Amino acid sequence: MTREREERLALLTRLEWLRLLGVDALPRGRADAASRREPPLTAVVPGDTARGAAVPGGTIRQRGTGVGARAPAGHAASARPVVQAGLFGGSVEVEGAGTARVRGRDRGAEPAGSPLASVRAPEAPDPAAALRLIREEIGDCTRCGLCRKRTHIVFGVGSASARLMFVGEGPGADEDLKGEPFVGRAGQLLTKIIESMGLKREEVYIANVVKCRPPENRTPLPDEIGTCSPFLFQQVQAIRPRVLVCLGTPAAQTVLGTRETITRLRGSFHDQDGIRIMPTFHPAYLLRNPAAKREVWDDMKKVMAELKASG
Ligand code: SF4
Repeated sequence: MTREREERLALLTRLEWLRLLGVDALPRGRADAASRREPPLTAVVPGDTARGAAVPGGTIRQRGTGVGARAPAGHAASARPVVQAGLFGGSVEVEGAGTARVRGRDRGAEPAGSPLASVRAPEAPDPAAALRLIREEIGDCTRCGLCRKRTHIVFGVGSASARLMFVGEGPGADEDLKGEPFVGRAGQLLTKIIESMGLKREEVYIANVVKCRPPENRTPLPDEIGTCSPFLFQQVQAIRPRVLVCLGTPAAQTVLGTRETITRLRGSFHDQDGIRIMPTFHPAYLLRNPAAKREVWDDMKKVMAELKASG
């Protein structure tokens, strides 16, 4: 498939998804790789799934579409239902072990419910075993279109008992080739940040919202995030870090279930299911805007203080 055709298909998919949500005006958004991450992005929200997108443990049904699809057989049967708010208001029902609803019409308001609290890790003797089960469940995943161009599924790396976890948006070219998150230039900067905090990279856990590289490093589409993010939530629940640092707008929006941008979210903790969430700028943004390093360091100082205070 040519690149032009691929971009056209991605655009058509997105327009169809917006139409299904009843959106009558397009959001401002940017698709180019160079400008994809920070802060103006407002359109990516967790669980804004295309019609009937399958999630671990159940079915997502977008209100008003009348469609739904059962999750594939054997697909993360241990996961509890994911309850997500629809973009621009609206609601999404998730049916599985139970049915729940999230409603909301106030654009920009925090949706009720915690995406993290809606998911549980698989039952396992310890966090490392739970992570292995999640990875096995992902398998050679073809649940969303990102499978087509990937080299490796980039699951996550680090300590299964980490007290500090970092979450980015998705793998880039270096990560796709190596199968490990945050190994390119932005990853090297993240490693420096971690070491500046007095930690080693292997002492924390690092993962992404989507496990496969979006073509041309574009921002993952809402249906891709909706399909893949339950695996991230399971990873978080397996590890149960004291602090989860969300790197950039898509990661923060996915974990917090909000439409707010990173500029609004960063700088303070947001508690979700007993985990302290600190959104901050993505290292790739810092490479383009070195002046923002000071704000990230301010955020990391709060993270260090929290880790110290919690023993
Ligand atoms: S991004 Fe996630 S859901 Fe999509 S193919 Fe990769 S592992 Fe599967």
